[in-house]
Amino acid sequence: MVLTVDQISKYFGTLCVLKDISFSIENKTIFALCGASGSGKTTLIKIISGLTRFDKGSLVIDGLTIKANTPYPDHLYGKIGVIFQDHNLFPHMTALENITLGLRMVRRLSSKDATERGMHEMGKMRIADKSGQYPASLSGGERQRVAVARALAMDPLLLLLDEPTSSLDPLRIEDVLHTIQDLATVGTTMLLVTHNLTFAKHTAQQFGVITAGECIISDKPDILDTLEGASQLL
Ligand code: ADP
Ligand code: MG
Repeated sequence: MVLTVDQISKYFGTLCVLKDISFSIENKTIFALCGASGSGKTTLIKIISGLTRFDKGSLVIDGLTIKANTPYPDHLYGKIGVIFQDHNLFPHMTALENITLGLRMVRRLSSKDATERGMHEMGKMRIADKSGQYPASLSGGERQRVAVARALAMDPLLLLLDEPTSSLDPLRIEDVLHTIQDLATVGTTMLLVTHNLTFAKHTAQQFGVITAGECIISDKPDILDTLEGASQLL
């Protein structure tokens, strides 16, 4: 298992956002997590990537156990790739600088090696010609691909995608879905949070539905149909 989430609970004050959540993700598989807005999906991604503490339970990442309210091991930050809903690119850095930042600061690559690796990832995403542009001058789809390139440049053990298509126009959605499918083909382990149930059903091997803080999991895609209003999400 690359990741095990074991009975994790999270409160914001008295609000219980996640309640005894448990699931595992095997190497080279995709776990699709679906749920209504406000059901705690982003919070869970932040917990797994070490950006938010949790109140109960434990996480096991790459064999290492992290208990509630203990510090997140530093070396894991570089191993978990996150693609946020709003991309979280630094506006004052070019696309390439955004991608190479982690390589230089976390991986301690030289500027030359980081640039080489960064350009390689941009090439794979078909945005090499955008390397000198700032995020504000890129389209939504291009920004998304910069975020993907930035995450992949770190060779993540696990990639967390938070609604990767939600802010895109229909044409760009196809692009991003193809990118994710390509990543699946090369065996990238992923936690995919999405409203696109059809895509989730076609891409993932395990499925989770999160409602009122609780998560039901299954290896059968039909479980996604239990989501309230599922038909509208298709
Ligand atoms: P989702 O990603 O499924 O839409 P979120 O994880 O963003 O849901 O949010 C789950 C719930 O937790 C929401 O009710 C949200 O308002 C609340 N929440 C998220 N972050 C915070 C925070 N930092 N402080 C207080 N409440 C928060
Ligand atoms: Mg969210």
